[in-house]
Amino acid sequence: MRHNGSTPLRRNAMDYDEDKNKRDLWLQNTMTETMCFEDFVRIASQKLETCQDYCESREECGEDACLCVRRRFPSPEHYKLYKIVNSRFNRMLTAATMAKAVALATNGDRDVED
Ligand SMILES: [Zn+2]
Repeated sequence: MRHNGSTPLRRNAMDYDEDKNKRDLWLQNTMTETMCFEDFVRIASQKLETCQDYCESREECGEDACLCVRRRFPSPEHYKLYKIVNSRFNRMLTAATMAKAVALATNGDRDVED
């Protein structure tokens, strides 16, 4: 996507301050805030889609605490946990895919039961 040198929409200074204040509050948050277990599992099994394009909040607050992340996770601890669970989930998925490929390669016949 090209912007042809035009300035992207800028938020005003108050928005920046507010965003940073909210980020600071969020960073101080601990696991005392709760998150629905089902929501967490659902999110952890997906690739987190944040900051697809330019994210002003990311520029200001850092990629681990931008608005997109804060909207999804009640605290940095939740986000950390998400990253661990998500990477394990992806490894399991890779392993399962490989196991399936191996099974297909070794049982070339159609009599494989699911
Ligand atoms: Zn973002």
